[in-house]
Order: sequence, then C-alpha cells, then structure tokens
Amino acid sequence: MNRLVLLFCAVLLHGASPERDARIAAAAAAMKPKLVEARRDFHMHPELSNREARTGKIVAERLRALGFDSVQAGIAGHGVVGILKGKSPGPVVAWRSDMDALPINETMDIPYKSQSPGAKHACGHDGHMAVALGTAELLSQMRDQIRGTVKFIFQPAEEGPPAGEEGGAPLMIKQGVLENPKVQAIFGLHMSMGGRAGTAGYTSGPSQASSDTYQILLKGKRSHGANPHEGIDAIAMAAQCYQGLQLIRSRRIDAQQPMVLTIGKISGGDRHNVLAQEVRMDGTLRTFSEKTREEVRTMMKQTLANCSGMLGGTYELNFIGLGNPPVVNDPPLVAKAVPSLERILGKSNVTAGPPAMVSEDFSYYQLHIPGFFWWLGIANPERGITGGLHTADMDMDEDALVSGVKAASSLLLDYLDQQR
Ligand SMILES: [Zn+2]
Ligand SMILES: [Zn+2]
Repeated sequence: MNRLVLLFCAVLLHGASPERDARIAAAAAAMKPKLVEARRDFHMHPELSNREARTGKIVAERLRALGFDSVQAGIAGHGVVGILKGKSPGPVVAWRSDMDALPINETMDIPYKSQSPGAKHACGHDGHMAVALGTAELLSQMRDQIRGTVKFIFQPAEEGPPAGEEGGAPLMIKQGVLENPKVQAIFGLHMSMGGRAGTAGYTSGPSQASSDTYQILLKGKRSHGANPHEGIDAIAMAAQCYQGLQLIRSRRIDAQQPMVLTIGKISGGDRHNVLAQEVRMDGTLRTFSEKTREEVRTMMKQTLANCSGMLGGTYELNFIGLGNPPVVNDPPLVAKAVPSLERILGKSNVTAGPPAMVSEDFSYYQLHIPGFFWWLGIANPERGITGGLHTADMDMDEDALVSGVKAASSLLLDYLDQQR
C-alpha cells in the first residue's frame, strides 16, 4: 500500500522519474497490438505523395477520438495538425511524422500486403504514423505530465510532390504549421535497417545530406559524322563536361566537406554517322551545408559554360523542384535529448553515428527552429527483415513501434520539463 501511495505521489509530481518512465514503458507495451494494427492498415492502403486522402482522414479521426484540443486537417493537401495541451502552461514542442508511400510494387507475401498495385510503404512512413499516433494516445492520457503543449504534425509528400505540384514540409511551413501556437523545437524519427528493433542512432550537427536533382542540356549542331568540323559535337561536350564536373569534387571543394555529384543518366545523339545536336545529363547533388550547396551550384555553371564553350556550344542547367536542404540536428538540443533516449532504450542501444548521404525534408523545419531527427532500428536478420528502405522487400520488426512510442513520449515530456 505504501509503495502504491509513493508511486502515485511520484507520478503526480512533474518531471522525469523512474515511475514516469515505468508508466510510459507499460503503456507503450500494452499498446503494441494497436500499433501493429495501425501500421498494417496504413501498409495495406499506401497512398503516394500528395494523394494521402484516406491516410489523412484516419489520422484526423484518431486524433479527434483522443480528445485533442484542436485537430486541423487538409493542410498542404492531406496534412493534419493536432494540438494537445498539458495541464500546466509552457512552451510548444512538435513531433513530425510523414505519411506518403512510394511507387514501388510490393513483392513480399505477407498478410498485410499492399492492396494498391504499384504502391508500397517502402520507406517506413506507415511505422512513423503508427508511432506518432501511439505517442499521441499515450500523452493524451498523461496531460498532468505535459508542461506546455505538444503539436503533432502529420506531413504529406515527404518523398517529393509530383511534378508541377507543391507539397511536403515547405508547403506545411508556408501554411503556418510552426505558428499558432508557435513551435519552439521539433522532433522526429526515421526507421532504419542500420539497427535492430530496440535501438536508436543519431548524429549531432549535419546528419543527412541536401539533395538536388538537376538536368543539363548540352546544345551543339548536327553535321555529317565524316565532317565534324562543320558541326558542334554535343557528345564531345558531354565527355568534357562529365570530367570537368568531377573536378569540382576533387579540386575545388574543401576535402573536409562531404559532397557527391552524380550523373546517373546520359542520353543524346541520333545515329552512328551524325554529330549529336543535343545531349541530356541527369544527376543528383548532395552536400552537408547550405554554403557548399550554393558554391557547387555556382561552380557547375562555370564548368558547363567552359566545357560547352570550348567546342562552340551552349548549355542549360535546370534544378528540378526545390530540393532538400541538409538535415542539421541542433547540437544543444541533441545533447539534452540523447540522455532521454539512453534512459528509455538503454545506453548500449543508443549509438552516435556518421552522417548519411540520404536526404529528408525534415530539414525545412530546422531552417526555422531547432530540431532533432534520429534513426529508429527496425532490422531483425533472424526473421529475414533486412530489406533496405526504398526496396520492394522492405519490412520492419514491429517491436520497434513500441520502442518508438516510449522514446518519442519521453523526448517530448523531458524537453518541456527542461524548459522550466
Ligand atoms: Zn524515402
Ligand atoms: Zn522516408
């Protein structure tokens, strides 16, 4: 009886405590069947970027059923924002989940196989939503512990809106998700095959690369292949430009600055004995700082002007869409948050790692406020769960959903506690 009273008093008191951690762990574990059900429902009904109508409807319904103070749907397309106020006033912290699936055919024979041919949750966003909804439910039962407000942001089109459409994090921000009430810091996670269920990984500072898609058009002039001096050979330009562009990496950017400039596709020319009039090159540019990103864009123009000009041709360089800035985790925020992750998941289960060359539009929120975006392990080699993100055989160890809810709930509550 005495122990029960003590436990009750500890829970009533604000702030992280072993009792609160135990309460969160027990609630998250008890929630597992519900988390699995939510994740599998999303998995069976994947919706592509900016087409998340069913997904958004379910998310909004679930948040409303939890008695949130406000739930706003239809933001930036099918995005949803839910506001959960604590019993005591304080700052506002946000949790972000993405919602969209990829145009990849599900090949695995699983009971929760995608019911939409040509679409699959192959980036784990089904799991991200299950974790966010689970955290929303858990915290809605712990308002006494929330010293401020938690804003849940469900964002469409993380994988990029279809050509000609706006969407994703930039549009969410444009439509005011970081305002009313103003968000002070933002957290989010991404599933990772780099660790087993129950583990987490993170990087302080630059964590994921910027990502730009570009298209280069090299323009020359046709002539008979026997008389190249009468034309301007776009293929010869392409050969020079390819080499020249790689010199940006090796000779012009500080070797300490990670950067990748890839050309993944080259097409051009008409036939074997005609000088090519036009060559198109498609590629991706990755960096870890906005400064390097800008410098490389400028150097690409200089290089292309020269390598096309030396043969008498011209060029066009087009960047497609906005591209993602690098994900840069705020070091002071990370320093405060990592002890929470270690406490909840176990110190040996939380690992600092190197930055990754992949990209995420979570970075847009970090241009405005401090943010922390970390990796949640989902691998289970014994059960054959090893398929990488963006592949047809990607799956997840659903025990990770429980870890995600525990960790997210604690990160959010601890952050608000720390602002006192
Ligand atoms: Zn993805
Ligand atoms: Zn993703």
